[in-house]
Amino acid sequence: MIVGVPREVKEDEYRVGLLPVGAEELTAAGHSVLVESGAGSGSGLFDSDYEAVGATVVADRAEIWSKADLVVKVKEPQPAEWPMMRPGQVVFTYFHFAADEALTRAVIDSKIVAIAYETIADNRGHLPLLTPMSEVAGRMSIQQGAKFLERPQEGRGILLAGVPGVAPAEVAILGGGIVGSNAAKVAAGLGANVRILDINLDRLRYLDDIMPPNVTTLYSDRHTIRESIERADLVIGAVLIAGARAPRLVTRDDLRRMKPGAVIVDVAIDQGGCFETSKPTTHRHPTFVVEDVVHYCVTNMPGAVGRTSTYALCNVTLPYAMKLADRGWRAVAEQSPGIARGINVIEGRVTNLPVAETFGLPF
Ligand code: NAD
Repeated sequence: MIVGVPREVKEDEYRVGLLPVGAEELTAAGHSVLVESGAGSGSGLFDSDYEAVGATVVADRAEIWSKADLVVKVKEPQPAEWPMMRPGQVVFTYFHFAADEALTRAVIDSKIVAIAYETIADNRGHLPLLTPMSEVAGRMSIQQGAKFLERPQEGRGILLAGVPGVAPAEVAILGGGIVGSNAAKVAAGLGANVRILDINLDRLRYLDDIMPPNVTTLYSDRHTIRESIERADLVIGAVLIAGARAPRLVTRDDLRRMKPGAVIVDVAIDQGGCFETSKPTTHRHPTFVVEDVVHYCVTNMPGAVGRTSTYALCNVTLPYAMKLADRGWRAVAEQSPGIARGINVIEGRVTNLPVAETFGLPF
């Protein structure tokens, strides 16, 4: 099989879909690997690293899309890539369809087989290809929140850790999954007072056991959300309903109860965001202010720490890419229900129920 690795075209995206070690394993298994020139440079990986293990470096992106049977990348195909997708081609990447109707329709029209990292499940029902990026985004959310709480960045001028004699910041985290627990760990480590809200009581029990004493767990309902955001300096949006649009937990009216200069980091923005006022932003222009609350809504947070993220991502995607290349998507999907759950669109037909429901498409 020909495996293609294009350079990411999304603004400020520095990850790449395959490490040189992955190219080495694929070529050793008899596959051809085409890598776009410069694809790894944002992660500190050079064309020569790929060539040294048998991959072919190609200057023209269109050549990769036209030749590859399996395209392995990171972000959802961007509009400039849509015309290059070919019927029957397997594209293995993050798609986040539910947040983007135009992308969904472009993929349907292209007749590719879209295998979405974010909906592949393991035997326990967990989402193993979302986990490492959620770990990165969760840890990074506090780093970014701390930065935008600074006054020159339009924040309240609060140091998360406080200092002796001055209280630390209040941090509220909506959703105690991978993003939420990683955010809590970093915020608590800095000394902030942290609240994690979730609707899964078993998860809250677990977090209550493992988190330090400056982390409080709360059942997430309308009242606790409102009360927690009112007292918070920093709010992290980290909820997920797999494959579906994020639930809107905080309205514009709720924002008026928040402290002026408080910061929201809506990590769930890639699934549409959990604040009514959220809209996607980029690393270059990461924030905007609504009702005196600073919103940070970058859809590809891990992209900014490309090196860490590329390694964390490829560590988990490579075994799947190997299976898809070795056996083809049909056989792999038949043998593994978890991988089958990753297939969102097959040659024009939506096969993921939440995506179909989101846009009223046939399933
Ligand atoms: P997860 O499934 O591990 O956790 C989600 C949690 O949300 C679960 O514990 C669930 O019980 C909880 N939840 C659901 N509804 C809730 C509600 N009403 N109130 C409170 N909690 C609720 O998911 P995750 O891996 O932590 O991912 C969270 C989000 O972050 C996803 O949308 C994911 O796509 C996104 N993400 C974004 C970026 C980015 O760059 N912006 C990077 C990684 C992940």
